[in-house]
Amino acid sequence: MTSSARTRWIFAGQLGPLFDDGGPMMIVEARSVFGRRPMHRAKAHLLLSAMRHRATELGDRVEYHRVERYSDVVGGGGRGSADRRDDLEVIDPTSWAARRFVRERGIHVLPSRGFVTSEKDFTVWADSRQGKRLLLEDFYRGVRERTGVLMRGDQPEGGRFNFDHDNRNPPPKNAAGLGLPDPWWPVEDEIDEEVRHDLDRWQSEGVVQLVGDDGPRRFAATAAEAERALADFVEVRLNDFGPFEDAMLSGDWTMSHSLLSAPMNLGLLDPLHAIETVEAEHAAGRAPLSSVEGFVRQIMGWRDYVWHLYWYLGEGYRTGNNALDARRPLPEKFRLLDAAAIRSNCLRETIDGMRRHGWAHHIQRLMVLGNWALQHGYDPVELNDWFVDMFVDGTPWVMPANVIGMSQHADGGLVATKPYVSGGAYIDRMSDFCGGCEFNPKVRLGENACPFTAGYWAFLDRVEPRIRHNHRMAQPLSGLRRLADREAVVDQERHRDSW
Ligand code: FAD
Repeated sequence: MTSSARTRWIFAGQLGPLFDDGGPMMIVEARSVFGRRPMHRAKAHLLLSAMRHRATELGDRVEYHRVERYSDVVGGGGRGSADRRDDLEVIDPTSWAARRFVRERGIHVLPSRGFVTSEKDFTVWADSRQGKRLLLEDFYRGVRERTGVLMRGDQPEGGRFNFDHDNRNPPPKNAAGLGLPDPWWPVEDEIDEEVRHDLDRWQSEGVVQLVGDDGPRRFAATAAEAERALADFVEVRLNDFGPFEDAMLSGDWTMSHSLLSAPMNLGLLDPLHAIETVEAEHAAGRAPLSSVEGFVRQIMGWRDYVWHLYWYLGEGYRTGNNALDARRPLPEKFRLLDAAAIRSNCLRETIDGMRRHGWAHHIQRLMVLGNWALQHGYDPVELNDWFVDMFVDGTPWVMPANVIGMSQHADGGLVATKPYVSGGAYIDRMSDFCGGCEFNPKVRLGENACPFTAGYWAFLDRVEPRIRHNHRMAQPLSGLRRLADREAVVDQERHRDSW
């Protein structure tokens, strides 16, 4: 059977034109997907809205099924399953579970799309390392060279592949902040209204457990909206993206970030198109290289890299790593996004933003939420799944390298060479959170001891035997050994019940 004669079943990560070759399509809205674990309501809303908007766009060309579970449409699977569908095809889906599901049913599988590099490209690159460590920077350079993005002949634009040194400034600490206007927001329509109504009903029937606020919808649900969001980023925030990539400010939840991860992960925005758009801005003299290179590296480097690592590190990577023996369950304040119960400004502001939008920017994810979880030894698998469920852009593939690897160091150093841990001084430098906080980032002992600062030393104390071989941790560990009040700080943090 030729591709055009088969019906293409598209998943929630495949909703844009990149996944459409013009033939008949099928979308299955399975309610059980939303009821597996508690989910952020804004995320459930975005997924449903995007699927239903796509169905409207495709019109007669799509079969849209609203069912309890996928198997209601494609059968139970397994050998000799009577109801498997020979006339279906899929573009290889984006999780181990979904790949197994379609293969068990004998559905025809096409190579994956939606990334700059193919899975084959990555395997060739990784195998060519011949036992050498896999490094993002090497992968990224290779992709730049192969694609010619930001290259002049065989040399990188501006003479360097990486402009990190020109970036990562602290935020301006004045009342005007970055002084940027609000980002462009989508306008909701009757589809969003119907989604909200359905979510209310599902919630009252007890089939889903939704956490957080729902609305107004802030992330693109169609390819046209994604294009509009990209244009707004390029016009208004791209120039500040590089310098303030790591900066945090109270009351500014978006800073100069692009807000494009959700539409990209839904398949609505082709990452290469986003890259070419910002590259053209630089070529036209409208955007500085440091910002453009920083943005290109996040997508062509990090996004592709963590996607490939998901497959390369194997299905067992998520659950099979706990190098720092982190076993504490996630606290209620995290699970319920209960910002009001949190006293530390940085953590409260971050969790409150999550509650309102199902989103936080990168440095809040890594150096506030991840740093806190690492210091407190939260179970890495539980944390991984919480990130998947609570973020509008959360997917099974994006999280393991980011959470298990980079943020929690649970893999012992496969993805990141050292734990991403810091005390309150880092947060103080990169934000305005500490100014009005009841805790003092310079204090580690006593009433106003900053939970991040004291937590940093308590963390080092706890994991010292497990990280003492890591030469990148030699300096912090030697600081720990010189700490006169080490025992008192560790004891204080062991008994801290309010933060
Ligand atoms: P920008 O800051 O504007 O960056 C541009 C794009 O680069 C993003 O849209 C994203 O597609 C890509 N990108 C940058 N860094 C990464 C990265 N480390 N991994 C993958 N893509 C990256 N990204 C997700 O897409 N979904 C997630 O659920 C997610 N969870 C994360 C959890 C943790 C603990 C950490 C450390 C990172 C996580 N990231 C995730 C990566 C990154 O934080 C988000 O992509 C980014 O904050 C999304 O906002 P933005 O679109 O404004 O990104």
